[in-house]
Amino acid sequence: MEFIDWSFMAGKLIKEEKTIEVMIRLFCRGKHETKGTGLCPGCGELLDYAKARLSKCPFGEKKGPCSKCPIHCYSPAMRKRVVEVMKYSGPRMLLRHPVLAIRHLRSGKNKEAK
Ligand code: SF4
Ligand SMILES: [Zn+2]
Repeated sequence: MEFIDWSFMAGKLIKEEKTIEVMIRLFCRGKHETKGTGLCPGCGELLDYAKARLSKCPFGEKKGPCSKCPIHCYSPAMRKRVVEVMKYSGPRMLLRHPVLAIRHLRSGKNKEAK
């Protein structure tokens, strides 16, 4: 799997990348029984795709949650896969990575309030 260098991104986008990576790892470990930091080929492909989308996001640092995005730049198939990951990993994030989970939830709520 090819990893994208994070260094060209700043602030919020780095945190979003970290969050999606953690969520895909939880999903892969739970559903595909992978160990350690490795991912199965399918989840590796999804992570690369999500990172590539984030790096090209037209909203940049001002982006809101992808689930509320008016553009939604994901292909229908990839969108379906990422929704599956969110459903599985969302509740588990609160136990394993509470800081990331709360930040993720708050960013969605802040956007909804506007
Ligand atoms: S779905 Fe929308 S917010 Fe998410 S990366 Fe694509 S364009 Fe940006
Ligand atoms: Zn997997």
